[in-house]
Parts: sequence; C-alpha cells; structure tokens
Amino acid sequence: MKFHVITLFPESFDSYLNESIIGRAIKEKRISVAFYDPRKYAPKELKKKWPDGNVTVYADGRPFGGGPGMVLRAEPYVMAIENALKVIAKRPKAKAKIIFFSPGGVMFDTEYAKTAVTKFTDIIFVCGRYEGIDARIKKVFKMEDVSIGNYVLTGGELPAMVCIDCMARQVSGVLGNFDSREEERVSSHDVYTRPEVLIHKGKKHKVPEVLLSGNPKLINAWKRREVIK
Ligand code: SAM
Repeated sequence: MKFHVITLFPESFDSYLNESIIGRAIKEKRISVAFYDPRKYAPKELKKKWPDGNVTVYADGRPFGGGPGMVLRAEPYVMAIENALKVIAKRPKAKAKIIFFSPGGVMFDTEYAKTAVTKFTDIIFVCGRYEGIDARIKKVFKMEDVSIGNYVLTGGELPAMVCIDCMARQVSGVLGNFDSREEERVSSHDVYTRPEVLIHKGKKHKVPEVLLSGNPKLINAWKRREVIK
C-alpha cells in the first residue's frame, strides 16, 4: 500500500511514522509514505527571491468575498497532486484514490479503511490548513472529502496520520499476526499484565480472576461483557 501526502508540513510526520509498528512496516516495505510539498511545485509567479537569497512561496491568499483567514491557492496543490499521480502512473497496475481532508466530509472509520486498502494500491491525502483549499481543486481532480471526527483541527496532517495508521493495520504483514487485529476478534477495552496484584498506597488491585483461569470460553465471555458495558 502506498500513501502519498500533499502537505505544507511534511516534517510533522517524521516522529510518528518512524516509531513502532508503522515504522517497522515502512522499513519492511509493506507500506510506503511519500510527501509532496505544494511550495516545491508552486509556479514561479508565486515565488519571490529576496536579496539575501531566501525564497518566499506564496501558497495561500485572501478569500474572495472577504472573511477571516487565508485560503490555500489551487495552483501549487494541483501541481503537487499531478506529480503524485505521475509517480503512481509509472506502475501500470496501480489504482489511486484522492482524499481531501475536511471536517465536513464523510466520516472515516475501520470499514472505510478496509475498503480503501482492498480497492486501491495508492491513496493520495490532501492536507488542508487555514480556511481550507480553493474549492476549484475539486473540479480538477475527482476526490472525496473525508472527516476524522466532529471537531475542527488546524490542519489535515493529523487526519492523514490517523488514516495511514488505520489503513496500514489492514495491510497483510503489518501486524505481527494478521488475526491479532482487534477489529477481527473480541477485545475488551480493559487489559491487564503482570503483576497479578498491583499495590498502590497500601491498596491491592487484582487482575480479574477469570483472566487467570486459562479457560478461553469464560475469558471471551468476560471480554464480550466488558465491551458491552
Ligand atoms: N473552515 C474549514 C472547513 O470547514 O473545511 C476548516 C479548515 S481547518 C481549520 C484546516 C484544515 O484542517 C481543513 O482544511 C482540513 O484539511 C483539516 N481538518 C480540520 N479538522 C478536520 C477533521 N475533523 N477531519 C478532517 N480534516 C480536518
């Protein structure tokens, strides 16, 4: 599974993607994550070189019709997405989907992740910022607006990380044991490990007896009850 992220802040992904299960999945090439910074693809009219050699890229502009905040300009994003599509097109059998993150989009969940991983080889995530992206970008590319919850974040980078994590879990080999996916078995929210008795400020906190019974039937019944609770 190959993920392509269009973002002004590619470094914000570094720490998360390098750690633990996702880090290992990338090292083992079960998934890959490529970044396309729209600033890099901006046309030269949007770049200004200063006398000290520094370059400013104007990736955003004031909204037509007024209102607060800035709107991401379409051109750098169109170019960045086109670049990702060019990379994908080098693999003739690749099948890509473009997702634009928006708090008003369709709600992301495990089923969405499973379907995406089954139907596509490549997912392009377009991360918004500020007031969002010039809406004409949706006339240029077929893309789906996706939300990760009923709240507003400052950018699409966290939603991209959430989707990459959740979709990666559906890729064979990413979890040590594919059947260990919690989505596929009874898994309670409360889990326990050693010691059997935790002593804190003189008070003893014991692991529920049933989990020490070694009886899978009883244990699964207990887990089911915990989930329903
Ligand atoms: N008024 C904008 C709108 O309704 O799309 C809100 C922009 S928000 C401050 C900046 C960006 O963060 C959005 O363009 C989107 O990419 C991302 N974002 C914020 N909350 C999100 C959510 N719950 N799910 C998905 N993306 C979100």
